[in-house]
Amino acid sequence: MAETRLALFGGTPVCTDGWPTWPMPTRDTVRMLEDVAASGRWAISGTFTGHQCYEKQFSQAFARYQDVPYAVPTANGTAALTIALEALNIGVGDEVLVPGLTWVACASATAGIGAVPILVDVEPDTLCMSLEAARAAITERTAAILLVHAYCSCADIDGFMRLSQETGIPLIEDCSQAHGAEWRGQKVGTFGHIGAFSLQQVKVLTCGEGGIAITRSADVYDRMQQLRADGRRYIEGPQIGQLELEEVGSVQGRNYCMSEFHAAVALSQLPLLDEQNALRERNAEYLSRLLEQIPGLSTIAVPHNVTRRTYFQYLVRLDPKVLGPFSTLHIIEALTAELNVYIEMIDVPLSVNRLYNPVVSPRLPKTKETQRLFIPSRFELPVAIEAQQNCVAFGHWALLGSQEHMVAIAEAFKKVISNLHLLADTAS
Ligand SMILES: *Cc1c(COP(=O)(O)O)cnc(C)c1O
Repeated sequence: MAETRLALFGGTPVCTDGWPTWPMPTRDTVRMLEDVAASGRWAISGTFTGHQCYEKQFSQAFARYQDVPYAVPTANGTAALTIALEALNIGVGDEVLVPGLTWVACASATAGIGAVPILVDVEPDTLCMSLEAARAAITERTAAILLVHAYCSCADIDGFMRLSQETGIPLIEDCSQAHGAEWRGQKVGTFGHIGAFSLQQVKVLTCGEGGIAITRSADVYDRMQQLRADGRRYIEGPQIGQLELEEVGSVQGRNYCMSEFHAAVALSQLPLLDEQNALRERNAEYLSRLLEQIPGLSTIAVPHNVTRRTYFQYLVRLDPKVLGPFSTLHIIEALTAELNVYIEMIDVPLSVNRLYNPVVSPRLPKTKETQRLFIPSRFELPVAIEAQQNCVAFGHWALLGSQEHMVAIAEAFKKVISNLHLLADTAS
């Protein structure tokens, strides 16, 4: 008989094996970093050395991967969102629809360029922006829809494309949690006017800190290039020793450039993405079958048009009836003791998230009207609030483990759920 005493109370943990760690450097990562170090060029604003810089190589490799003509790397995902919004001429006086359940950057980047984030509730099954709620939130000031393919699911791309076409409101797809996902065989991020990605440490494609924005439009590409490099863009056929960027200044740019070191790491990691995504998908499908046999647990749905699913986090939802007076914090503490792997709560809805506090920003005019427009608590997000209370999340690298790891996760849930009554007063 397996021991039933919880590891939290001194019992034997379900899993004593190690877990995969993240990020995963390769020999190429180290080789390319050394190459940059010795190259004499650490930034795109340096002079041409006779070799194509890593930023351009990564940009072209990622564009090819996505099957779009253009990609602009940036210092982080927030910068990718910022240049995406500004390339579409969005700013003060505009409203942008943002899902109420996502990482804070979606709202803070929007508020950062002076536009008002309109927080839209999510679908209960996918936890992505609700099409119906989005339609209801549109006004004559709506200048963009910032769609996020969140956690381990995907927004209703066909529905939002129709909405965008009907209304003329441009669509930006934030794919920071869905690198490599496909909708009817086509990469997400290529449906809307612009796709934006973060390459920050915990994402499924990472270079530590980085981002990239993709588009099919030559005009949007030109603007995004300038927006991220102080108004400069690449020239054709540079000579050795010549600056590779020319001054244009048809937009107000800033420096959001990705360094050569980051670009080298990103380039070295891109070839791993498909294989890692496939392994995560296989493990997740297996894990979901195990978890769905446990009463009171469910997983997150994905629209049937998703032909390749990505997992930035694996979410498990607990039936509030099973949870009773306990919170997901209790569950996380007990599960962590059983598995010794990183488990967390999901994002706090932006209407009540302490990281989203635009009204204290000195960037905004201190008028009553501004305060009224930007106050996050004016939005009601009942579906997001409920999801946050009932879901726990595993980092995606847990899904890079073995089938035994998946069995352990399911066993740990079973053990914790059947001992829930013992958890009173444990979570701090
Ligand atoms: C991580 C993330 C971002 C922000 O990216 P940074 O690189 O941290 O600036 C934006 N949107 C979503 C959905 C994210 O998950």
